[in-house]
Amino acid sequence: MSYYGPVLAVTAVILLTEILMGRHRGIYRRDDILVIGLCALLNPLVTRALAGLLIAGAAALLLPQGKGALAHLPLLPSYIGLFLLVEFAFYWGHRWAHEGQRRPALRWLWKIHRTHHAGRYMNVLVTQRINLFWSFVVPTAWITGFAVYLGQGMAAGLVVLTIFCWNLITHSHFRWDDAIRRHPRLGRAFRGIEHLLISPGMHHSHHGYGKDGASYRNYAVTFAFLDWMFGTLHIPEGRPWRYGVPGAQPHWAEEIFYPLVRIPASVQEGGKAHPADAEEKAVA
Ligand SMILES: [Zn+2]
Ligand SMILES: [Zn+2]
Repeated sequence: MSYYGPVLAVTAVILLTEILMGRHRGIYRRDDILVIGLCALLNPLVTRALAGLLIAGAAALLLPQGKGALAHLPLLPSYIGLFLLVEFAFYWGHRWAHEGQRRPALRWLWKIHRTHHAGRYMNVLVTQRINLFWSFVVPTAWITGFAVYLGQGMAAGLVVLTIFCWNLITHSHFRWDDAIRRHPRLGRAFRGIEHLLISPGMHHSHHGYGKDGASYRNYAVTFAFLDWMFGTLHIPEGRPWRYGVPGAQPHWAEEIFYPLVRIPASVQEGGKAHPADAEEKAVA
């Protein structure tokens, strides 16, 4: 899609800055390289195209008279309405994915989303850690796909672009927001803004556990007021104690290909401890 070029360029600039500032040094296992590399390659080249075809087919089947039916609507209200709808649906889809950690009926959804959380670090490459089947289930793809079919391709493209850019800001290793949040005069106002918009610290919390980690909080991509409304807002003090998923780490093949590839838990456990764990314990 046309928005993908600029997104890749911005990702590359932030990535390069993170690398030059040493934020990627010594954090990756071989499995991380496999997961990030294959997901970054196969998602744009294969699965997003297949998901697009599926969603376009479903739209044509369910709304045979709908092609281009909303094309006459003005761009700005369409963009705002679509953005709100996508964020609302994503909030709930994302929340259900995390509830799959506790609810057996949603376990499959958590395993698809878990790939994004299994990295024990935060930087822009985490935005590429996406299981190949996420594009088929995430509400964002379905709603923007239907919007394209209905004639709102420009609004849908802008919504996807906005979400991509916000994800880059909130996944980047840089925590510029901490200084503002702690500022004696600006801190209070910034915390107020964090009730409306998701900051990097808030999404880092969502990827963390232990102190200031909050896997069951901050589900929205952009609009924190959804978390505020539905009781899942968490504004952190600092970085979480750990990033990633506690306990046994998923097998790289399952991370990428689940549900096509399923590795028994007994095989996944053992021999998977990250060397960084030992270093962190030594430092602590
Ligand atoms: Zn999540
Ligand atoms: Zn994330």
